[in-house]
Amino acid sequence: MRGWLAAAGVLLATGAAAADYAGPIFDAHLHYNVEAYDGPHPLADALARMQRSGVRAVIANSRPNEGTKRLAQAPQTRRAGVTVVPFVRLYRNRADYDNWFRDETIHAMVQEELARGTAAGPYRGLGEFHLYDAQNANGPVARKLMALAEEKGLAVLAHVDDTAVDLLMAHTPSKGAKVGLIWAHTGIGGAPVARVEQLLVRYPRLMGELSYRPGLTCDGGSLCPEWRALVLKYPDRFLLGSDTWINQRWESYDATMRGYRTWLGDLPPDVARRIAWDNGANLFGLTKP
Ligand SMILES: [Zn+2]
Repeated sequence: MRGWLAAAGVLLATGAAAADYAGPIFDAHLHYNVEAYDGPHPLADALARMQRSGVRAVIANSRPNEGTKRLAQAPQTRRAGVTVVPFVRLYRNRADYDNWFRDETIHAMVQEELARGTAAGPYRGLGEFHLYDAQNANGPVARKLMALAEEKGLAVLAHVDDTAVDLLMAHTPSKGAKVGLIWAHTGIGGAPVARVEQLLVRYPRLMGELSYRPGLTCDGGSLCPEWRALVLKYPDRFLLGSDTWINQRWESYDATMRGYRTWLGDLPPDVARRIAWDNGANLFGLTKP
């Protein structure tokens, strides 16, 4: 008996006993940008990658918004079994990355897009937007868009640091209690796990999207111990994403999803399923595929 337990312990420690997660995936951070759809990744290619990877729903946010609309309206998307959750991208071009938070024409563009909607239905969120300096969370357009998101029940996909999370939340009528903020990369600068937890506790609708998150995985592609402990403690608060911000990310789309399936396989099946699918599906009321 002791020998068997020791052998089982070795298997678990090396990850050899765990099978990869095999269920559906909700990709909560997808871009379908002009250089992808007008370049090497037309619809058939992008959809084939999602299908091969078992991705059954995506948050689509694209520069320009045309990419999201193409994905949303194509009959091939439905045939591929992919549900599109459209978000309004704040950027018309690269220059908008550094100026959106104070540019009133962006605010006007968002209003127009929201009024127009997409073939897949109304927009469900705003973003992704970036703040490279947290203080820009106090820009006039950033303030207005956060308040708008809460008022209209829109989610927000924000690539920001932990300081900016607090600043953005302060601009909503509920001071962050009611707005669904998806934190892109859960802090790409590597906010300490204790700080991530503090924010999860402070803002009940804050969700952490895990692409590019520093320190997430360790040897063999398993979750590092402190991250494993965090996702087990907050299994309803994390999401997966591809972040196809450049065409190379489309080329590695399958590998990205395989990487997720590897570490999800080390988690209890119900936790893996929540992070891979249920958390995203529940945010937007999607049914099981
Ligand atoms: Zn992104």
